[in-house]
Amino acid sequence: MMHIDAKPIDLTLTVPFRISRGVQHTSPNVIVQINNNEHIGYGEAAPDEYYGETQETVLACVALFAGNLGNDPFTLEDIMERLDKIIRLNPAAKAAVDMALYDIVGKILNIPLYKLLGLNPAHAAHTSFTLGLDTPVNMAKKALLARDYPILKVKVGTRHDIDIIKAIRDVSSAIIRVDANAGWTPKEAIKNINALAPYNIEFVEQPIAAHDLAGLKLIRDNVSIPIIADESCVTVEDIPRISGHVDGINIKLMKCGGIGHALKMIHVARAHNLLVMIGCMIESSLAITAAAHLTPLVDYADLDGHLLINDDPYTGVTVEKGKLVLPDAPGLGVKARS
Ligand code: MG
Repeated sequence: MMHIDAKPIDLTLTVPFRISRGVQHTSPNVIVQINNNEHIGYGEAAPDEYYGETQETVLACVALFAGNLGNDPFTLEDIMERLDKIIRLNPAAKAAVDMALYDIVGKILNIPLYKLLGLNPAHAAHTSFTLGLDTPVNMAKKALLARDYPILKVKVGTRHDIDIIKAIRDVSSAIIRVDANAGWTPKEAIKNINALAPYNIEFVEQPIAAHDLAGLKLIRDNVSIPIIADESCVTVEDIPRISGHVDGINIKLMKCGGIGHALKMIHVARAHNLLVMIGCMIESSLAITAAAHLTPLVDYADLDGHLLINDDPYTGVTVEKGKLVLPDAPGLGVKARS
């Protein structure tokens, strides 16, 4: 019988992280450990209250899951289906279990996760580095400090968004992606996105409210910059609904419930001709590394959660001039920082 343990961990952001709907100083995450004979698998949940989860709900879920994991980590599909029957939703809690099981399977087979998935680590993506919301002057300063990263993801959703992008563009020639986190109305979005066109923006993420699919279509029909859905696209079931309304989707392990579900989303998105991005919450190198193993399959990566905290308890994927360098140790390839 596999045994599961969980412990809460509060990650501290290096600088307070502001997006259109609020500011964050710490991220209350949960580390999960699954023991299977001589192998130990590690997973991490980064619960987001926006999606109905907290540290407490994750710990309660893990208690429900204990005793229901069976004794064969290779039966991943059965195990995850069982957890879905025990409790609906709670994707971050399930993602932690799923990545710990993949970690064990990789360790038993003595191969890294990318190899288990048939992926070429040389094709791992470049990650963006995220600039939280601030005044235009301060965001330009943050862009200068981030000059080692060739791709910047810029949070917007204020009254001075064009000034923010202009200030950053004045000091940086990086690729710029913009994320409004649902902060605009459709009318504002069309006006702002068209005003951003001269600043060479790669794409705009979640311009408007998550439920407003018709609004997304209206925006897409009236701007030239690609539109990526994040809050509007949570699970695989959302993809057929959103297809035709946006150009691509942002998949996160913490929204969809883990590596297995993320793989399904990638392939379903491709079948709908959508661009695919893998993103993250504020996560340590543990969950970030799990997601990084999938990036040979995607167009864009935003896997910088571990770069935004000052007390990362793990080592795993590294970032060299923005390129994700996958560890080749068995399983996730993540180790406790000594
Ligand atoms: Mg986003």
